[in-house]
Amino acid sequence: MGTPSDMKLIDENGRRLDGRGDEELRPIRITTDVLQRADGSVLMEWGGNKIMVAVYGPREAYPKHTQDIEKAVIKARYNMAAFSVDERKRPGPDRRSTEISKVISEALSAAVMVEKFPRTQIDVFIEVLQADAGTRIASLTAASVAIAAAGIPMRDMVVGCAVGKVEGRIVLDLSKDEDNFGQADVPMAVLSKGKEVVLLQMDGDLTMEEFDMATSMVLNASERIAEIQRNALVEKYKGENYPEIEGSEE
Ligand code: ADP
Repeated sequence: MGTPSDMKLIDENGRRLDGRGDEELRPIRITTDVLQRADGSVLMEWGGNKIMVAVYGPREAYPKHTQDIEKAVIKARYNMAAFSVDERKRPGPDRRSTEISKVISEALSAAVMVEKFPRTQIDVFIEVLQADAGTRIASLTAASVAIAAAGIPMRDMVVGCAVGKVEGRIVLDLSKDEDNFGQADVPMAVLSKGKEVVLLQMDGDLTMEEFDMATSMVLNASERIAEIQRNALVEKYKGENYPEIEGSEE
């Protein structure tokens, strides 16, 4: 990390390069049911990120030795399209995508009622079509909605945001330049009701005081992001007709 001398990330009015204040999020839009074959799907637009998520399952885990007799296994696969970044990204899995797939799978496992579906797998395919910093957290936040849209029981939703340090200030939801040239980058995700931390990574350095400030900024933002997740699900179910349940009328 380290800022090149000609790269100012905070302007003379104290605003960030894209005009945001320290705790301001980039625009977030979540659309469900964008794919026909998936059990649940989401298109997530978060700033310049565009991410497609498709969920299948729970279905019998295959190969058999991957089955867990006590619970469903969540298999998230994060992939960045070759055209998702400025330079062509070499297609196929690499160390970074393997790591991100793993941390996303683990975070989702804390939210899904996996114990209800022994011996099965839940596939979560994540395709980053356009990357603009914060893709792991945007993918995870989107995947949580896609799982809910698939009708898979969850104890809570996962909601995340990155926070970091730029020119000595703690700022929320880092942009690409802030991610590249800032002093710290901390992607973090929590369960939206329980506030249990399910993903926390860190690049750079922060004092304990700065770390506390950073985490409380993410907790505040998680309420706003959870609201966007809820609205996307409300929108999905709004137009649907449900059969009347016998005896449900008073
Ligand atoms: P995250 O996307 O979760 O912030 P990183 O911090 O690893 O994960 O990456 C930050 C950003 O760097 C990504 O969002 C993407 O815009 C860019 N990036 C990641 N990998 C590549 C790559 N192979 N080529 C070009 N840009 C990349």
